[in-house]
Amino acid sequence: MAEGKKSLNFIEQIIEEDLSKDYKQEELKFRFPPEPNGYLHIGHASSICLNFGLGERYDAPVNLRFDDTNPMKEEQEYVDAIKKDVEWLGFKWAKECYASDYFQQLYDWAVEMIKNSDAYVDSQTSEEIAEQKGTPTEPGKESPYRNRSVGENLALFEQMKNGETPERGHVLRAKIDMASPNMLMRDPVMYRCLHKSHHRTGNDWMIYPMYDWAHGQSDFIEGVSHSFCTLEFLPHRELYNWFVEKVSKPGDFKPKQREFARRNLSHTVVSKRKLLQLVEKGIVDSWDDPRMPTISGLRRRGYTPASIRKFADSIGVGKRENLIDVAHLEFCAREDLNKVAPRVMAVLDPVKLVITNYPEGEEEWLEAENNPEDESAGSRKIPFSREIYIEKEDFKEEANRKFFRLTLGKEVRLKNAYIIKGESVVKDDNGNITEIHCTYDPKSKSGSGTEESLRKVKGTLHWVSIKHALEAEIRLYDRLFTEEVPDGIKDKDYLDFINPDSLQITTGYLEPGLKNAEIGENVQFQRIGYFCVDKDSTTAKPVFNRTVSLRDSWAKKKK
Ligand code: ATP
Ligand code: MG
Repeated sequence: MAEGKKSLNFIEQIIEEDLSKDYKQEELKFRFPPEPNGYLHIGHASSICLNFGLGERYDAPVNLRFDDTNPMKEEQEYVDAIKKDVEWLGFKWAKECYASDYFQQLYDWAVEMIKNSDAYVDSQTSEEIAEQKGTPTEPGKESPYRNRSVGENLALFEQMKNGETPERGHVLRAKIDMASPNMLMRDPVMYRCLHKSHHRTGNDWMIYPMYDWAHGQSDFIEGVSHSFCTLEFLPHRELYNWFVEKVSKPGDFKPKQREFARRNLSHTVVSKRKLLQLVEKGIVDSWDDPRMPTISGLRRRGYTPASIRKFADSIGVGKRENLIDVAHLEFCAREDLNKVAPRVMAVLDPVKLVITNYPEGEEEWLEAENNPEDESAGSRKIPFSREIYIEKEDFKEEANRKFFRLTLGKEVRLKNAYIIKGESVVKDDNGNITEIHCTYDPKSKSGSGTEESLRKVKGTLHWVSIKHALEAEIRLYDRLFTEEVPDGIKDKDYLDFINPDSLQITTGYLEPGLKNAEIGENVQFQRIGYFCVDKDSTTAKPVFNRTVSLRDSWAKKKK
């Protein structure tokens, strides 16, 4: 039995119960089954963490299975992206599987079912079939083709497979019960003709299996013990079991489907179809646009695998669908980045500050701690000189006593450097401040141990030496949608709620050591937020993405 300090969630309870009855530990096997029709999103991260988490907990294999049964929407690009994302999250699959690898087996089983009168070729249009389905309270009508002879069914099915019948000409249906209270049991379609090339099987197949016919069978073939899917598949469970029953022999180990609730995230949409629209309409640049809730978008935004796993684990699995506030995802990012991101200084909205009693032409390199949360992160040297940038908002000519930043006549500390005192300002013709003049106390250097250096002053400001500053493009991201549930508003389209300010681009001035930062590297711009180097970054033009601000500013803005 697995050990664990936490109480068991309902999925783990199901497994523990099975283990206490007739399952052996070594029979446990799970899978994560994405359809390669788009990039994975944060909702998928929940499913990945659930399945691979169970694998780790029970020391059981977990397959990565591509549910690639619809050549209309699937592509190799998506397969590659999905593999990269699962790996990046830190999980290892036991086997890389494809439903398309089972096409022959599925076909052979379908032939058996025809021979056993469990399936038939229906030559009606999809509209006619839909009309005969009935309603949950009224039984459906049987198709006029339901009692075709086995021979005729076999011949037609083979022609369908070879692409010798028109695309909409026939379907293969399971022969179950047109009066079943479960509508899905009313002779569900198993195969449709699609004269399309598949990204893996090419033109070998001109028929493609439907989800219900492929999924449980794939689980069965792979020996999956527990097949977890989202709640909308609950009514499919009866059909899942019916099909598995048909293809298995007595005594075979059979998979069981169990359902958990989808996880939705506020201020975004988690549906590959809707995310694809954002890409196709050019609302975002690509699937990995840092505003996207895709795993690749979050990675580019600067999220760490640990922060996404923490997020998924902390929301856990549930039986009821609910909305998770994106602020919780951001919280998880801050929590991890606080531990791992080196601190650096950057000024995003600069004003020039001149230290009038600091010798012209002189510079010194000051010691700066890389991460107060992590001693092993060490320290670095940063340049200081007579002219520096500070943030505009860190200075007011006059201010009340609650303003702990720089004003005229008052002292503040420059982080890792000296205590300075505001003396005067220079303004342009419009009255805008162009320079702040200060004096510094040469004996107050941080870490020097002098009496002056230990003097307490109210505020500490970040700064960057102008002469040494590294200019960078800074991309400030905000939520992509203004509404909490953009796709949940009656008579409105989610595309109506795009936040026009979801991306602002500005120029920042950074301490020079950052010129060596690598793509994807995370840093904390002190007092501002967490940032990472974007893949568009070059030596000539560094680009940084804001992952999250240091605090949740959205909650305040809304009020
Ligand atoms: P989408 O609507 O975005 O295409 P999907 O469910 O069709 O989602 P699949 O590729 O079929 O996407 O999903 C792979 C696995 O991830 C499935 O087991 C599915 O149930 C699960 N999954 C998808 N979205 C979520 C979500 N929002 N929360 C939890 N699990 C999810
Ligand atoms: Mg799907």
